[in-house]
Amino acid sequence: MDLLEYQGKQLFARHGLRVSQGKPVTNVQDAVTAAAEVGYPVVVKAQVLIGGRGKAGGVKLAADESELREHAANILGMDIKGHTVRTVWIEHASDIASEYYASVLLDRSAKKPLVMFSVEGGVDIEEVAEKTPEKLIRHHVDPLAGLTRADALRIASEGGADRDVVEGVADALIALYEVWMQEDATLAEINPLIVTPEREVKALDSKVSLDGNALYRHPENQSLSDSENEDPLERRAKEEGVQYVKLDGDIGILGNGAGLVMSTLDVVSQAGGAPANFLDAGGGSNAETIRQAVDLILANEAVRAVLVNIFAGITRCDEVALGLIGAFEQIKPSVPFVVRLDGTNDAEGRRLLQEAALPNVHAATTMSEAAEMVVALAAGQSVGAPA
Ligand code: GDP
Ligand code: MN
Repeated sequence: MDLLEYQGKQLFARHGLRVSQGKPVTNVQDAVTAAAEVGYPVVVKAQVLIGGRGKAGGVKLAADESELREHAANILGMDIKGHTVRTVWIEHASDIASEYYASVLLDRSAKKPLVMFSVEGGVDIEEVAEKTPEKLIRHHVDPLAGLTRADALRIASEGGADRDVVEGVADALIALYEVWMQEDATLAEINPLIVTPEREVKALDSKVSLDGNALYRHPENQSLSDSENEDPLERRAKEEGVQYVKLDGDIGILGNGAGLVMSTLDVVSQAGGAPANFLDAGGGSNAETIRQAVDLILANEAVRAVLVNIFAGITRCDEVALGLIGAFEQIKPSVPFVVRLDGTNDAEGRRLLQEAALPNVHAATTMSEAAEMVVALAAGQSVGAPA
């Protein structure tokens, strides 16, 4: 679950990281009020879940009200790499002496938290990592000991932080580690972490992802998830308890088990198709789950064909078939389906489907055959006799 910059900064502030005072607003008039409150000069910042806002024109300084009106009007409604700006954050502008970089994430291969720090902040950190890796300090943390003050001080000084702010940077790293650990974040990043001319160390930006599966431990963070920026279909799926991720393509995917669904996405891509979603109906899915899943997939208007790929263990293929038959009765899909049923009760499932003679439903026996069929169908080609 990704947070908007200002939501991340609010978390930062709770853990003692320095941030500028600001307000999120959704129209120019409120922006004017907010700017008067935080005091000019202000910075107007697009709140979208994508980086590189500055380069895209989504971050602007305003010295007075007329500049503020101009920038707020321009940025609200702006499209940044496919994300529409609905909220801007108005904060008091900072003077910048240096721009550093700091982050904490989980290094899965090392099975440890990883703290990274660089004095080459403000820019694309991947570029720093690639061209001048010696300028990016990487420190693995013993999760039982946590990030000690001695560690943080060493990271800051080895990373080349100005001598007079080594303490301040260490404080920021410790607070950032605390955010990551205590809030169950998967990523906590500050780029840039600035040093002001007064030698204050401050988070000017934030990128925070929280672990959705740990959200039940943080009721106070729950409201962050239902921001208007979430895809409406993904929100609906969450409410229904379905694992659904919207993608850019036109082939709806329904499978059971995350691994199977991921390989289905791969096989469809390999066959030249573009998946419209990830949907894991889960192990032991019954007829009702399947009906709900079909409904969700077809709610995405981009879908031109659907691939149902079931490998049944606990799940029973006859239940899946009944779910599909139920879904067809209720929804009457207008797009073709390819169905591959394999595993527990697959013969019974296929028999039920055949008897129901659902319109425009095609049976496949292997995954690659299914993928090729669905790609052809999505492109408007025919694929031989229906099931
Ligand atoms: P991003 O482009 O999405 O990473 O957005 P950032 O919040 O990192 O802002 C981009 C850049 O805008 C920063 O690296 C700064 O150089 C500049 N910027 C942002 N806020 C301020 C500010 O308060 N004062 C000044 N002088 N520059 C700012
Ligand atoms: Mn940034």
